[in-house]
Amino acid sequence: MKRKILAGNWKMNTTPREGVSLIDGILEGLDSIPVEVELIVCPPYTHLGMVGQRLPIRVSMGAQNCSANPMGAFTGDIAVAMLPELGVRYVIIGHSERRIFHGEQPERLLAKLRMAGSQGLIPIYCCGEPEEARQGGDAAAWDYVRGQLDILKSLDGEIARRMQVAYEPIWAIGTGKTATPDIANQMCEQVDAWLQENLKVEKYEIPVLYGGSCKPSNARELFAQPGISGGLIGGAALSASDFLALGQCFPEGNAHA
Ligand code: PEP
Repeated sequence: MKRKILAGNWKMNTTPREGVSLIDGILEGLDSIPVEVELIVCPPYTHLGMVGQRLPIRVSMGAQNCSANPMGAFTGDIAVAMLPELGVRYVIIGHSERRIFHGEQPERLLAKLRMAGSQGLIPIYCCGEPEEARQGGDAAAWDYVRGQLDILKSLDGEIARRMQVAYEPIWAIGTGKTATPDIANQMCEQVDAWLQENLKVEKYEIPVLYGGSCKPSNARELFAQPGISGGLIGGAALSASDFLALGQCFPEGNAHA
């Protein structure tokens, strides 16, 4: 059955106190979101302890990054093993901002996926094409994304089957330019077909989320697409009312199961 997932990536936003008030605002309105919608919040590292203590069972927490190394002499890094005690279940890996601003290459990302999976965390693996590739048309955009998926072939099957993938076209992230529902769906369906073929999983077994300027005004149409299992949300996840509204944008029932 297709899942319904709403994940908020707070990125490097909010002070710890502001983060607590953001999560409190979300928790206050939680009952407005249908129970079948799975909720994930990914605050900055500095907030994980405080936010984690406030979360009820139905809201999961993710980290925005992790080290590819085990604990040790890596000043400033955060080991995967430090996260579960704080209540972290997910970790975003391969976000375009990590790839662009931190030069994260496929080999490093594969090591992070393996490390996260080996410690029981669920990776949310991000992929998405830049503007130039999109301008080259659907085939060029897909070629780019397919290249980013390639490392997943080297993942242990157990880890692969538990993960989620977020298709996030770089030209849509934080720009206000959302992919049309058709483009978003076509790419997410192609990702799903690739996952089925290469990882031997069932259709929609690995949820594929859409990310890129998704907000309450456009989410309903995006989340109604058969290939889209939910959203990885940046900007709109920083407002409790927007995040709650997004949780109400999923189609009712299991029309696309
Ligand atoms: C993101 O960075 O994952 C994202 C989708 O950001 P935004 O919603 O702000 O475009």
